[in-house]
Amino acid sequence: MSDNEQIRFDAVVVGAGMAGSAAAIVLGKAGLNVALIERGQKAGSKNYFGGALYTHALKEVLPDFMDRKPPFERPVTEAGFWFLSRDGGLMKATIEGGKLAETELPDAYITMRAAFDAWWAKQAQEAGAFLIPKTTVVDFIRDEQGQVIGVQTDRPQGDIYAPVVIICEGVNNLLTQKLGLARRDVEPAHAALAFKQVISLPMETINARFGLPDDAHGLAVSVLGDVSLGLPGMGFVYTNKKSISVGLGVMLDTLAEYRLRPYDVLQRYLQHPAIAPLVEGGQLLEYGAHLIPEGGWRDMPQLYAGGVMVAGDAAAMVNALHWEGTNMAMIAGKLAAETAIEAHKRGDFSAASLARYRDKLQDRFILQDLKQYRNFARFLETHPQFMDVYPNFLNSALADFFSAYGKPKKVLFREIFGELTHRRPLLKAVGDMISMGKAVMGW
Ligand SMILES: Cc1cc2nc3c(=O)[nH]c(=O)nc-3n(C[C@H](O)[C@H](O)[C@H](O)COP(=O)(O)OP(=O)(O)OC[C@H]3O[C@@H](n4cnc5c(N)ncnc54)[C@H](O)[C@@H]3O)c2cc1C
Repeated sequence: MSDNEQIRFDAVVVGAGMAGSAAAIVLGKAGLNVALIERGQKAGSKNYFGGALYTHALKEVLPDFMDRKPPFERPVTEAGFWFLSRDGGLMKATIEGGKLAETELPDAYITMRAAFDAWWAKQAQEAGAFLIPKTTVVDFIRDEQGQVIGVQTDRPQGDIYAPVVIICEGVNNLLTQKLGLARRDVEPAHAALAFKQVISLPMETINARFGLPDDAHGLAVSVLGDVSLGLPGMGFVYTNKKSISVGLGVMLDTLAEYRLRPYDVLQRYLQHPAIAPLVEGGQLLEYGAHLIPEGGWRDMPQLYAGGVMVAGDAAAMVNALHWEGTNMAMIAGKLAAETAIEAHKRGDFSAASLARYRDKLQDRFILQDLKQYRNFARFLETHPQFMDVYPNFLNSALADFFSAYGKPKKVLFREIFGELTHRRPLLKAVGDMISMGKAVMGW
């Protein structure tokens, strides 16, 4: 093929997920000729999450996104933690109304990725991006100095040239590894396998079971305690319009070590006396699993090289405790696109020029939070008592506090305290709290 016949774009974006379509929207709006390459039949067909999307990130990428009628399920109007005990108890620590309801735009919307990603990629097309579905990027084209100048796809004569490539390939970051930017495959100790069921129920049933007045109200909770057999893991429950998403994430190495089958762990969770009535009579619509990179800061690849930048899950940009991944992916995609636009203005796509991308990430919550939470995954691994001992104790202590046993409160408090020290010696419990504080604060 002669040079004239080469397929050329100003930029190539790999993966039409949260990060990729965000990058393509920004590039397209700036008038650049951008190819958005997606291996799935269509955008969203390969993607899976809990979950809720954060409006601050959507607004930053596409300020008029609400006018474009995104396919949301429900806004999150109640959020927080549920603690399940082994004896069937459920302690709720959720927030609704108040500050959560004060903002003009809800903080987050519960969403199904198949519908949302298709819409998100359509916004990129409307901004001018050229979406190429059913096409997998398999390698890169490089110049003599090793700088990336395009991609090779699995299509015959499918090479596509561009001076800058933004990799948004998700958690299985094979291309990032191929460039030598990621040190290795995701380690089982640094990734959670999240599995969930989508269970169909009439809207009125969902509203009644979750205490929601109508479908303009939705619940998003993280579930701790008797969820994952006391092993490092966290559950979730999200209310969609006419279905609920229930699932949990467990560290991959734990599943392997205890020879647990994800389906069995999920079934056990669904049969918990506090969860079973919520899903009772529902019809299974979907069952799926997807990896979550939890290594964060410690697993982060080099974020740029000559002609290339990496964004989203491919760069381990997930804050697992807060279920933040989509917002980091969208904003990282946007910042990579802005860096590419600046590089076009300078006509310089070298690593030194694209280094601005890392500075931009550092100026925002993305690198700051990931650095702060760098020890959190390790903390969970070494403190399984937060999945088991403490949720059980909290349930029991609260039940005792609100029961009138007809005995002096002094005796009751002594019993509650005794129960804690029976489950976990006091000094160790104090140490656990300090360790948790340090893991969250990044000290
Ligand atoms: C069960 C679960 C629940 C979650 N809940 C939440 C939540 O509530 N809130 C939240 O913010 N985050 C949540 N997350 C995390 C969130 O889903 C991710 O952080 C986010 O989707 C990352 O976006 P991304 O664009 O980096 O990757 P993805 O969304 O995974 O997109 C990657 C895209 O690249 C395509 N692709 C991959 N390789 C190639 C290739 N070689 N060529 C072409 N295309 C390719 C894929 O098909 C895919 O479309 C959850 C994750 C899981 C698994």
